[in-house]
Amino acid sequence: MTGARIRTSGLTLRYPNRSVLQGVDFSMEPGELVAILGPSGAGKSSFLRTVAGLVRPSSGMVQVDDQPVAGPRADVALAFQDPCLLPWLSVERNVAFGLTFARQPHLSRASRKERVTLALREVALEHSRTWAPSQLSGGMAQRAALARCLARQPRALLLDEPFGALDEVTRADMQQLLVKVVRHTGASTLLVTHDIDEALLVADRILLLGNNGTVVDEWTVDVPAPRAPHIQKLGEMRIQILRALQNSMSRAA
Ligand code: ADP
Repeated sequence: MTGARIRTSGLTLRYPNRSVLQGVDFSMEPGELVAILGPSGAGKSSFLRTVAGLVRPSSGMVQVDDQPVAGPRADVALAFQDPCLLPWLSVERNVAFGLTFARQPHLSRASRKERVTLALREVALEHSRTWAPSQLSGGMAQRAALARCLARQPRALLLDEPFGALDEVTRADMQQLLVKVVRHTGASTLLVTHDIDEALLVADRILLLGNNGTVVDEWTVDVPAPRAPHIQKLGEMRIQILRALQNSMSRAA
């Protein structure tokens, strides 16, 4: 399966009391992993929700594979900081639940089961398939949430601060897992994060969304995997990104 080609042109979003996105032109290649950084309130989540088809733009367009996005799509999966697992269902049933969402193609029982098994294997949770969500650590719950997305065999993954609530060691594991999953599945991935290091460790490209609702800067992270925070080039980029982030915040102040 190849990743989706995602594009926005002139994407503008106004809420009743404020403007958020102002003519964002963006495109990503199939299988690319793009991180979006920016000050709190810049509109990162709004951008993701608009690309997901959950929010309609005020003007401009979002396209997936050259088709305008008019609502949620079966091949685009979204995950949040809260894993949102249903506490009364086992891990495997939670993962299978992703296949019952609206607009999912009908699958036979056998193929549903196979997809759940493959997704659990991808995130190394096969051994916990019968567990209840209450038995999972934070990292395992987030892996189950990722498996729920993967069972849908998405061509695009939209992740909104998925590791924001995890401790540092678990977060580092999840970052490695994410890179592995994206490379293995080929899903085009947009990751909203407030963590510059996370963006540098996982992304092919980093966008900085400013408080003015536009992409104010962009970096290609041309460092092969596995990446480690002490790699000099990443350290240099970190300083550049931090300065750009500070500039974008002081302009808004
Ligand atoms: P970020 O993810 O960068 O922190 P958000 O996209 O969550 O930013 O929010 C951008 C701004 O839009 C914030 O000021 C937020 O309060 C406002 N906002 C977000 N969602 C809505 C909504 N549904 N209705 C009105 N305002 C909203």
